[in-house]
Amino acid sequence: MARRKPVIAGNWKMNKTQRDAADFVAALPDHTRREDSVEMILCAPFTALSTLQTLLKDTQVQLGAQNMYHEPSGAYTGEISADMLRAVGCQYVVLGHSERREIFQENDVLVNLKLKATLSNGMNPILCIGESLQEREAGQFEEKLLNQVELGLAGINMSPSLAERILIAYEPIWAIGTGKTCDESEANRILGLLRHKLTQLYGVDRAQQMRLLYGGSVKPSTIESQIQQSDIDGALVGGASLEAESFAALVSGCKAFGN
Ligand code: PEP
Repeated sequence: MARRKPVIAGNWKMNKTQRDAADFVAALPDHTRREDSVEMILCAPFTALSTLQTLLKDTQVQLGAQNMYHEPSGAYTGEISADMLRAVGCQYVVLGHSERREIFQENDVLVNLKLKATLSNGMNPILCIGESLQEREAGQFEEKLLNQVELGLAGINMSPSLAERILIAYEPIWAIGTGKTCDESEANRILGLLRHKLTQLYGVDRAQQMRLLYGGSVKPSTIESQIQQSDIDGALVGGASLEAESFAALVSGCKAFGN
């Protein structure tokens, strides 16, 4: 089986105006813009998407959103639909990020509805899962992670093309934005457990096809040892994706492991 294409997905969270986003793109090196051995995604705030759609048009960098609502339209004040995201060029949507689960009380059922709406509108979900430090220290957190995957993907008939499109990001909550990276062999062990679960759910071919990311204080200095792990196919990156130079360095760090 061919090696899975590495992914670097930046999550800008609630950072960057349209102007800041344009400055970021202007500072991206040419070789990064053209890189096709690594899948590059920028998940930007809603207000910057339209600007980025124009500026990224002639690059290999794909556009993503950080959330959406599953209903197609209607009285959902403050929400944004899949159709709207598609119309501004989004190919990816981050779903179930721990900040959304913790601050905005999103649960697995809602994340699953959003995931299905993302797929049926032709976009690709990045399903986030993760445990808190308290859950890790109390043990049995692995069960929580496996449940998050199973519930997040409930009702999905995993065809080869869906297995290609759905990304899963393991992001231990204690490692997000803290500078405390989860040891790469431990992250790889967890992703191995997830892949085993995917094998039980969808069979070995689909499970081997699916790309599993690690997220949590990934930096240019950590990416090479992370991407070398057998089950880590890329990274979802917050802080270190905010500067073009650092985003480019993350991509370069994965290059040797691309096709
Ligand atoms: C994230 O926001 O998904 C994330 C992993 O953030 P950071 O890289 O800053 O830890």
